[in-house]
Amino acid sequence: MAIIVQKFGGTSVANPEKIKAVADRVMGHHRQGNKMVVVLSAMAGETNRFVDLAGQMQKIPDPREMDVLLSSGEQVSIALFAMAVKAAGLDCVSLLGDQVRITTDNMHTKARIKSVDSDRISKYLDAGKIVVVAGFQGITEDDDITTLGRGGSDTTAVALAAALQADQCEIFTDVEGVYTTDPNICQSARKIDRISYDEMLELASLGAKVLDIRSVSLAKRHKVPLHVRSTFTDTEGTWVVEEDKTMESMLVSGVTYNKNEARITISKVPDTPGIASRLFTPISDAGIVVDMIIQNTRAGDLTDMTFTVPKTDYDRAMELIEKIADEIGAERVSGDKHIAKVSIVGVGMRNHSGIATTMFHILAKENINISMISTSEIKVSCVIDQKYTELAVRALHDAFNLEKENQPDKE
Ligand code: ASP
Ligand code: MG
Repeated sequence: MAIIVQKFGGTSVANPEKIKAVADRVMGHHRQGNKMVVVLSAMAGETNRFVDLAGQMQKIPDPREMDVLLSSGEQVSIALFAMAVKAAGLDCVSLLGDQVRITTDNMHTKARIKSVDSDRISKYLDAGKIVVVAGFQGITEDDDITTLGRGGSDTTAVALAAALQADQCEIFTDVEGVYTTDPNICQSARKIDRISYDEMLELASLGAKVLDIRSVSLAKRHKVPLHVRSTFTDTEGTWVVEEDKTMESMLVSGVTYNKNEARITISKVPDTPGIASRLFTPISDAGIVVDMIIQNTRAGDLTDMTFTVPKTDYDRAMELIEKIADEIGAERVSGDKHIAKVSIVGVGMRNHSGIATTMFHILAKENINISMISTSEIKVSCVIDQKYTELAVRALHDAFNLEKENQPDKE
């Protein structure tokens, strides 16, 4: 008898018909003899509606009260789901985060799970019930309601799967899985069958919005195999699992892009100890997350510093940097909001040299200028002019043969 955790996102439970369809699907697995634990998001659009309502009450809504509000959407969907199951004659019990004892820290609206008590769920499963749990929520040690941050239901599912030592954790969504690149801009994008946790982490952080990144780290830590698949078909989706030999033979697993960053450059900064800290401390104090940083050496004792920030933080970051640049006697501050970061990701890069060079060559052939480069063990990112994003993504996808299941090994 397998224990299966299945999570369904907001679009999968968007209306009563869809909730019934999800219940049918789960009951099918139950009838086959599996112990079913279901995690649900709020019905599509609900959480956004709450955010909007809160904004009408308080400019910056009180975080504690915000969590009381935000967590209510999932309470609705689990209750409706349990009713749908009961209407079909099977037994089901709905549980909120506090009833499962999903304890978190007290960082309201972005809490982290500390522990999960699986006893109550196990008892219900042994009694033959289908268990449906509210995603995205927990409880502090002082019994205050918390939420895990937008998209947090994936994390609830993985945390429950880990605590229950489930055989499978399936994340049902409105797409068929993880693709080699964005199918909206590249027709030959292919659904990936298997991908490693590390690759998924890179793809997720780069903007492939299929899985919430925190759930992938948690799955990696607890070695929970994740299956991302569509609610609306029976086709196999993408398995996110531990790395294996076949993955290493692939040069590149995916191409991603991010248009949400902006670049800031400070030219001719005095090259003395403490300059980087002078520049970046106010930025981080303002809660602005810097992504890429490049420092250049010039002849003499001057240096150039370029970095990227989320586009939404650009104006604030500029204001801060201009002030400091003035204080430290830098020559000039310039910036660009019309950039895109295009990246190739793959564990195969560890064993193959020259992948980055191939990427530079492909972009050069398209006459696309690279303004920043950064690399990690399994990723190469280039910042380019935003208007060439689609062209770059298609050219890279094509040149690395990502439309084919088995790419030719270069060696
Ligand atoms: N309902 C929450 C949200 O929209 C949590 C989730 O869907 O995972 O962010
Ligand atoms: Mg969601």
